[in-house]
Amino acid sequence: MSKDSKEKNSVKDLKKSLFYNKKNAYQILKDDEIKKINKFSEGYKSFLDASKTEREACEFAVEAARDNGFKEYKRGMKLKAGDKIYVNNRGKAVILAVIGTDDISDGLRICAAHIDSPRLDLKQCPVYEDSELALFKTHYYGGIKKYQWTTVPLSLHGVLVKSDGSKITVNIGEDPEDPQFVVNDLLIHLAADQMKKPLMSAIEGEDLNILIGSRPFKSDEGSDLVKLNILNILYEKYGITEEDFLSAELEAVPACKARDIGFDRSMVGGYGHDDRVCAYPALEAILTVEEPEKTSVVVLTDKEETGSEGNTGLQSSYLRYFISDLASDFGVRDTTVFSNSQCMSSDVNAGFDPTYPNVMEKMNCAFLNYGVVITKYTGSRGKSGTSDASAEFTGRIRNLLNKNNVIWQTGELGKVDCGGGGTVAAYIANLNIDTIDVGVPVLSMHAPFEVISKVDVYMAYRAFKVFLED
Ligand code: MN
Ligand code: MN
Repeated sequence: MSKDSKEKNSVKDLKKSLFYNKKNAYQILKDDEIKKINKFSEGYKSFLDASKTEREACEFAVEAARDNGFKEYKRGMKLKAGDKIYVNNRGKAVILAVIGTDDISDGLRICAAHIDSPRLDLKQCPVYEDSELALFKTHYYGGIKKYQWTTVPLSLHGVLVKSDGSKITVNIGEDPEDPQFVVNDLLIHLAADQMKKPLMSAIEGEDLNILIGSRPFKSDEGSDLVKLNILNILYEKYGITEEDFLSAELEAVPACKARDIGFDRSMVGGYGHDDRVCAYPALEAILTVEEPEKTSVVVLTDKEETGSEGNTGLQSSYLRYFISDLASDFGVRDTTVFSNSQCMSSDVNAGFDPTYPNVMEKMNCAFLNYGVVITKYTGSRGKSGTSDASAEFTGRIRNLLNKNNVIWQTGELGKVDCGGGGTVAAYIANLNIDTIDVGVPVLSMHAPFEVISKVDVYMAYRAFKVFLED
């Protein structure tokens, strides 16, 4: 070997040992691991199709918990290591816990994901007829690019509560036999003015009206006969009248099923990856956790997309009350439990999209297939609204994931001045709990059809599992 090539070798070695080398997971994974990843994604797709709203995801989680030996928690229950409990918060959020062998005053291991996703909610007085077409008025929920929600087949999910208190559950548009619904858009031929408008205002909130019928009630009398026919159908099917919409929560969501994306089937496309792509692995992690040392907690919360306000969101006290009750069951101070707890705020981050490279800073953003993404801080502008995990806690998580061969990357939500966002991390950190964001990179986040990588969702599951068991 010549002197030159020896030096070249040493530069290569030096680079290998001194540089931070990121690798695509497929360059590392063994065939049997890829099999596990593909199997996991089949379960995930079923979950996505069955859980298009927070209520459906909550019901899915509660059923899965019961099937796996979890009992409904009641304050004052005699609990011991290995016991599995859950709390159903109003059918929209759920807390699952497995009691650990260590004293509860040593703190909890918490994973917190959200199960609400952007969508079109029906207004309280939604039904109207115009020019012999019947439509629903909507009020969008969460951050959406409104133009994306036109000409997409929609299904309708939710509940109506009648004046006698009885509840009707609705799910129309998912079964292949069901009708579906749609928000129409202006034909291109007549869109000269619309096409000149910026995306922000080309489709306005009051334009997101859902087409629900066109056939009039057969009669010579008066107007609104299409609306009358629709209300007559709804009365015959559900026994409801127009007034019952006043106490309803009806959500129009994309009617598509989750599908493999790409010739190589390496990705999954579907509605509501944000944040069910973290909720599902967190749920799977706690369902399979066995006698952990620290008490494991998974919370699947509602209202993240509207700022976590309200009694099913994480700015409310429902998680705090649960931990306080648990602490008092074991005769310890809740503040001690909070202060010693650790949390993975399990939410998505943006994946790098080569069509839109300008909003990303390539050294510090997440890529598909590079594993679960650790987001040390979120926020907007000068990190406004972030909890920013400490170097010490970040180091602990880094070590934990490396030790357990969990493939992971670090990521920030785009370039500093391009926008920003937040998660529930800050609300949990405010309880004096060490908290860091850990989740899955998503393409087309908040669109009716989002894309994630199968490897990344599986690595999220592994990350949550080793964290709960640590
Ligand atoms: Mn999210
Ligand atoms: Mn979101």
